[in-house]
Amino acid sequence: MGLTTPAHAERGHALLGASKASQWINCPPSARAQEGIPDTRSEFANEGTAAHELSELILRRQLQEGADVDRLDREIETFETVEPYYNAEMGAAVAAYVEVVEERFMDAKARSADAVILFEARLDFTEWVPEGYGTGDVVIIADGVMEVIDLKYGKGVPVSAIGNPQIRLYGLGAWSDYSYLYDIHEVHGTIVQPRLDSVSTEPLPIDELLHWAERIVKPAAALAHAGKGDFAAGDHCRWCKIKGSCRARADANMAALAYEFRDPVTLSLEEIGSILHVAEQLSAWAKDVSDYAFTATKAGQQVPGWKLVEGRSDRKITDKNQAIQLFSEAGLVPEKYLKPPEILGIGKLESSIGKKELVEILGGLIVKPPGKPALVPETDKRPELNSVEGDFEGEDF
Ligand code: SF4
Repeated sequence: MGLTTPAHAERGHALLGASKASQWINCPPSARAQEGIPDTRSEFANEGTAAHELSELILRRQLQEGADVDRLDREIETFETVEPYYNAEMGAAVAAYVEVVEERFMDAKARSADAVILFEARLDFTEWVPEGYGTGDVVIIADGVMEVIDLKYGKGVPVSAIGNPQIRLYGLGAWSDYSYLYDIHEVHGTIVQPRLDSVSTEPLPIDELLHWAERIVKPAAALAHAGKGDFAAGDHCRWCKIKGSCRARADANMAALAYEFRDPVTLSLEEIGSILHVAEQLSAWAKDVSDYAFTATKAGQQVPGWKLVEGRSDRKITDKNQAIQLFSEAGLVPEKYLKPPEILGIGKLESSIGKKELVEILGGLIVKPPGKPALVPETDKRPELNSVEGDFEGEDF
């Protein structure tokens, strides 16, 4: 059990929560379809909650006017000692996030001396979304420009602020709550994903933000709240609680499967390109359906044609100390039964020592050899490799 506060852990449980906005905007009935299904909190979610808590403590200590610095120092120290999810990687990631917030706040103060910063601000966007409240990690308010900043601690899925409905809704709520005090003409939504070294900002003139809210959000939210509208599958299914058993998603994927093969005998490269897109989507869906069937079967339900069996397992030694003693008594030299000590992988070293510290200690010993060529959709942000076959000759992949 960590030190995470309910305020952090219990975020995002509203029917039309901002964090689920891409789902209910694109597939309005998905909100009611997931009602009552309990959240399964993952280790990653708990880790993220802990990182949010630490960042709030540090930000309050650094930037809050009249902060009780001694008390916050003690709380930070306790957190770093007691919180099971805390490690050097979390310390470094939170420090990188805090640096971005500090910079943005200094910029705001340079523009407008009376700029204010709010932490864990409750934001109200009920004018567009029924029961639409959210919690902004950081809101910076200054004349002219308002900025909302969100920390994403995960590193599995890159998240950008560009076109992101969650950060836009926070911006909308912040504008709605504070525009009577300040003359705001632009809202900046920023997402910091420190473990991917990513900071993205979407600056939106307030007219554009309000236009989006009226034209896109309001009608979708009304449908979603009423449990109406059309189911529509897409990238937004990734975090849906019924993604493994949703009929609309199955229909969309089965339709994608019904590829019409025509002459000539072999497919053209254009057709291959389309099939690869479909295959990616199908493999994600197949995994979700399989996970769903596994959970149902484990809970005692019967999926016709499938059964649970014992998986493969490896033999193991029950008492390693006793085994070492027995090897030694048998007259074996340690090289015969002990592994030589080995340096941890870079990711684990970063977690145990810290990203910056690791670079300080090892410096030029850390290199990044060229990666093996990979075929990815053209929307991938990495630059394209020269595809002349000879360019890869001599590379040891
Ligand atoms: S899985 Fe996708 S299509 Fe189905 S309800 Fe969820 S978001 Fe909508």
